Amino acid sequence: MVQLIPSSDEVMNILKRTGAFREGHFIYPSGKHTPHYFQMPLAFRYYDTARVLAVALSRKFRIEKEISSVLPKVAVVAPGPGGIPVAFGVREALSAEQIYWAEREDGKRMFRQYVTTGEINPCVIVDDIIRSGEAIRETATLVRELGAQIIGCGAIVRFHNAPAEIDGIEIKSLVEFDAKFYDEGAQCVECRQDAPVEHVRF
Ligand SMILES: [Zn+2]
Repeated sequence: MVQLIPSSDEVMNILKRTGAFREGHFIYPSGKHTPHYFQMPLAFRYYDTARVLAVALSRKFRIEKEISSVLPKVAVVAPGPGGIPVAFGVREALSAEQIYWAEREDGKRMFRQYVTTGEINPCVIVDDIIRSGEAIRETATLVRELGAQIIGCGAIVRFHNAPAEIDGIEIKSLVEFDAKFYDEGAQCVECRQDAPVEHVRF
């Protein structure tokens, strides 16, 4: 059992070792260039690593009185597939009662039909990585539409330019990453060095 929350450097070492953090020359579907890329499922394919990361994040939630005081009557909610292993790991560590995850259908984020019937506990939204914050915002809207309360939010990695809070709830993370982006190749350091390009899908 890991007793402490690992430092940001320790988490980055895990992400590098598993290939979840990659350095090079990447182009997003939006056309933006970047010298680094996170593919978080690479860290979550190892059970032990997934557990260390999820337990660490859960500790950031457990120290919040608003969350610890209502456990186990808590729902852990993932915005999409990337957040599902995080949600299961955090649920396990907190002994929370419920898990929900949203998916994209016809371009819209939603929960599966009938899944949200019955009482929904106060929600902790978790994801593997928060880049723009769009997924978290959309999920918070879904949670509000269900009449449920958001009592926590967090991810393994949060980009600096992403929101720091949602509905007045501070977003927890194990790593705050200062992501570099170039809107086009002309400004890109790696382009100027003729570094080989990899196109990434998300
Ligand atoms: Zn470039």
